[in-house]
Amino acid sequence: MEPLRVHITAYGCQMNRLDATLADDLLRAAGARVVDDPASANVLVFLTCSVRAHAEDRAFSNIGALAERKTREPGLVIGLVGCTAQQYGPEVWQRAPLVDFICAPGRLADLSDLVREARAGRRSIALDPARGKEEPEAFGESDARLDAVEVRGRHRVGRSRQAFVRAMRGCDMFCSYCVVPNVRGPERSRSPAAVAEEVQRLVDRGVREVTLLGQAINRYRFDQPGRAWDLADLLEKVAGTPGLARLRFITSHPKAMTARLASAFRDVPLLCPHLHMPAQSGSDAVLERMNRGYTAAEYAQRVAMVREAAPQVAVASDFIVGFPGETGEDFEATLDLVRRMRFASGFVFKYSPRPGTRAARRYPDDVPQKEKVRRHRELLDLLGEIAAQDNQAFIGREMTVLVEGPAPRPWLNARAGQTCRPNGAVALPANPPGFVPKNRDYSGAGQSAISGRRGDRNLPAIALRSLGEAGATAGPQWRGRTPCHRLVVFDGPAGLAGEEVRVRVERAGPITLFATLFQSTI
Ligand code: SAM
Ligand code: SF4
Repeated sequence: MEPLRVHITAYGCQMNRLDATLADDLLRAAGARVVDDPASANVLVFLTCSVRAHAEDRAFSNIGALAERKTREPGLVIGLVGCTAQQYGPEVWQRAPLVDFICAPGRLADLSDLVREARAGRRSIALDPARGKEEPEAFGESDARLDAVEVRGRHRVGRSRQAFVRAMRGCDMFCSYCVVPNVRGPERSRSPAAVAEEVQRLVDRGVREVTLLGQAINRYRFDQPGRAWDLADLLEKVAGTPGLARLRFITSHPKAMTARLASAFRDVPLLCPHLHMPAQSGSDAVLERMNRGYTAAEYAQRVAMVREAAPQVAVASDFIVGFPGETGEDFEATLDLVRRMRFASGFVFKYSPRPGTRAARRYPDDVPQKEKVRRHRELLDLLGEIAAQDNQAFIGREMTVLVEGPAPRPWLNARAGQTCRPNGAVALPANPPGFVPKNRDYSGAGQSAISGRRGDRNLPAIALRSLGEAGATAGPQWRGRTPCHRLVVFDGPAGLAGEEVRVRVERAGPITLFATLFQSTI
């Protein structure tokens, strides 16, 4: 039989990105070569996301587009893994008959068996217990197998030397719009020992920055005889890992934010000053229908509590616009919350009704698509405007950056008039001084960030000229993150990926800080 050549496509959130590294680990351990080009693979794994219809549709349409290839290459194996697998189970075959195996997120440890079956010409399916009356214990065996993969897996360490580590699985919050509790099962916290061992192993392999993951991670709780661990305890333990440089955690639920966790930002030196705590809406009526369990005033109190303990913390949020029944007044309340909170970054999503959720059952999707699009744009513009204003405070400051890799759009930091695009196009359009970028999104990471860079590209020409005068180092352009998770682009010598460097910020957009390098070990 032909050697295994696998290509993995991951959609959606950080959990899926982590699952993609586990799938990669597992399949390499089974003797596969993991390839970057899907055309050269004989096994295609799709790690799907069901949070919004759009992500799901993309996966199904990419699979559907393989029909001709599957006829040409009957040995081609197609696997649908992740949240969509659990959401639809065997119904997946009605929508995507080309799929050979279906694997729920909790059954990832079965991946190589499923591939083997498919190569022998047999369709197979591995699902988690359905969400309902089951207890977390029902997941005990598959969790233990996954834990073994997570702790002892080889985890490819990328050039950025960053890694995600799961602190929790599942979710019990049941926000009315959200499919996650149905597809990722009940909330289970991993033992501090397993998390710490995994972090140590990753650091031994070169990782510098670890982000602990959980859907409502500040609900972390692990009971041991004589000791109950919360997230602050876990952070303290993990921060003690020799060789670790930075520690982060996402995502926090406002309802579970405690003063104790807020003070961890002050007391745990390795903990980065960045809190992702989605508000979702600023309207109390909408928050109630969303089953979020707090009011806008309570949300603001939690942010104030964090900022009082550690004023340097950059707070990031998610929002859903066009939730059923969201009136113009409700949306105004969201804009008002954003003006008051001055978030450092954020994601904005248009409400997407999801099968099996309470919102889809109870509330008609009654905000017209055109209005969702309008609110989406307005909220992003406001978030971007505020971030652009607040980011000006960084100009002239020296900051530490962990270099993630080459800047994807190297012309962004070009000196005025410099041509550095591969196609030789002139770097940047000139705008009048004082021009406020009309960015569409400014979150700087993940799926909805891409269009937002437009905002940065339209920075005033005057700022570019001053950078030109400052003179940038010849060489590639790099992107990295400050401890507060702001994106920094700068010119520097080759080989900086994974290094911590010192930069001085020269100008600032809504998403990106543009800097010059003044200290590195290279
Ligand atoms: N557990 C995290 C939390 O509560 O913030 C993240 C969960 S979800 C993967 C990420 C974001 O997707 C949510 O914060 C929410 O804004 C958005 N989201 C979830 N369900 C959605 C839906 N049905 N329609 C639109 N956006 C949705
Ligand atoms: Fe979904 Fe709410 Fe759980 Fe986040 S906390 S995963 S939004 S149910």
